[in-house]
Amino acid sequence: MKINDVIYDDDAYIRGVIIKDLGEGYYNVFWFNYVIGIVSEDEENLKVIGHYNGDPKMFDDQEAREAMNRYLLEKRLADKYSFMRRDRSLAEQSKEGFIDDLYSAFGCECDDGWFPLLDELCADITRVYEDAGLPVGIKVDQVKEKFGGLRFYVTATGPQELVKEVYRLINEAEGKSEKICEHCGNPGIIRNDLAWIRCLCDECYEKKMKENLQ
Ligand SMILES: [Zn+2]
Repeated sequence: MKINDVIYDDDAYIRGVIIKDLGEGYYNVFWFNYVIGIVSEDEENLKVIGHYNGDPKMFDDQEAREAMNRYLLEKRLADKYSFMRRDRSLAEQSKEGFIDDLYSAFGCECDDGWFPLLDELCADITRVYEDAGLPVGIKVDQVKEKFGGLRFYVTATGPQELVKEVYRLINEAEGKSEKICEHCGNPGIIRNDLAWIRCLCDECYEKKMKENLQ
């Protein structure tokens, strides 16, 4: 792929044009028809890796990089831990009439700063099952931010003591999240005076404050 290449959808409609090579197989694309995003090129197909519904516009470099980083954070987690893979997309679930798998539909509904914490938690959970000689019995129901802290809702199966240990680890990680900046991962504290309660470091908090004033 190269700059000005046109992206077609399955029905051969023109969907967008490549505007920037971001390196390592990723491209920023100007999308037509209310979809904006960046794509990656793997062996088989193009994947939209960041998009939203709204007026057509371009991602600027900064936004494109942020979307790409986010995509890679989620991909690494899913590659490493099979229980972090998402199966039924929001579109598929919507077609069936109701959304009953929130994690598959929305992924991790928190900012990038907590991904190292999520990685650590997933490794701890995996180890508990491995130590017991059992396959990981975790179904992730929802991952999100609430009242400034992480919520990691899962259904864990296995022997009672093991399941108890899994929930203890989750509790511990949720507690830790209240001291980690949700945006950048640096040490943070819960901020109650923003539009939304969030755990942020001083720098990210000041930035958010300025945005709120605009
Ligand atoms: Zn921060």
